[in-house]
Amino acid sequence: MVDIKSMTPEELAVWLKELGEPAFRAKQIFKWLYRGAASFEEMTDLPRALRQKLEEESLLAPPEIARKQMSKLDGTVKYLWELADGSCVESVLMRYRHGNTVCISCQVGCRMGCAFCASTIAGKVRDLTPAEMLDQVLFTQIDSGVPVSNIVLMGIGEPLDNFDTVMRFLTLVNNPDGLNIGMRHISLSTCGLVNEIDKLAQYELQLTLSVSLHAPDDETRSRIMPVNRSVGVEKLLETCRRYFEKTGRRISYEYAMIDGVNDADWQADLLARRLKGAPAHVNLIPLNEVEESPLRPSRRVAAFQKRLEGHGITVTVRRKLGGDIDASCGQLRRKAMKEEPL
Ligand code: SAH
Repeated sequence: MVDIKSMTPEELAVWLKELGEPAFRAKQIFKWLYRGAASFEEMTDLPRALRQKLEEESLLAPPEIARKQMSKLDGTVKYLWELADGSCVESVLMRYRHGNTVCISCQVGCRMGCAFCASTIAGKVRDLTPAEMLDQVLFTQIDSGVPVSNIVLMGIGEPLDNFDTVMRFLTLVNNPDGLNIGMRHISLSTCGLVNEIDKLAQYELQLTLSVSLHAPDDETRSRIMPVNRSVGVEKLLETCRRYFEKTGRRISYEYAMIDGVNDADWQADLLARRLKGAPAHVNLIPLNEVEESPLRPSRRVAAFQKRLEGHGITVTVRRKLGGDIDASCGQLRRKAMKEEPL
């Protein structure tokens, strides 16, 4: 079986040719797929015989909405999707002044083991396919009726741990006949896989790379992020500098503020010192409490921000959206897993 929705129009044309079909069918089919067609039967401008052939030779299985939560406060919508194999992943639609943004997942679960994160508690089940990533954007748009202009890869999973799929996904959403979302409207967040950051740099994409730093010292970072135990902060930041030199894109560093763990003045000072030398932007994130974790939100966000700014660092504090729903990543999936059956 061919995963038809993970194909580019060019690949689709080649495949159709092998089936003895004219190339122009590729564009027709591509358009139907991006209109959210749930079956080939719906593609009424294709000959019946071709529809049947597609049905036999390829996969088309849009996700189902297992849960949906809408924030009354700010219009944030959170979706829990059930995929063809019964796995669930989340997406969140957020409305900002600069555009509607959808935050999507790239894996079912995660194997990175960060201490503060709900997505990793039960480990990784599997990688998503490009089609499953794409469908999150498409069906969020279709279900909500809200046109999506920005995508953030900050949902469940580690994008650089599913590298090839993510690259293909980026190509697909970029396509003018598809979603036509430009790289400058896409952010990719990583816990800091250095080899893959180097690999990504070679593509010189105009997307925004966000690095989840969360601590400037190895002792703290290794405690809350196991990924740091093999590659420390210094090597990670060197890799980030290389990334900037290659792509010219300023890196955004995420820093979830955790009470008594990473919110001391000395950590702000060390962070500022370590970020010197390349343009950087620090995004402080008020910690979302996760039921299974003893970590609590810091009460020093403003003081930490001020201290960093005193060192000349550009700092923003992430606005909390969807405070009345489980908008923090991985929480809705956890809840649904515990509540069986869905
Ligand atoms: N694996 C990628 C992307 C997914 S997580 C990464 O690590 O960057 C997206 C962001 O949310 C990361 O910065 C992550 O560290 C942060 N995050 C996870 N759990 C959180 C929580 N409970 N509170 C605040 N931020 C959290």
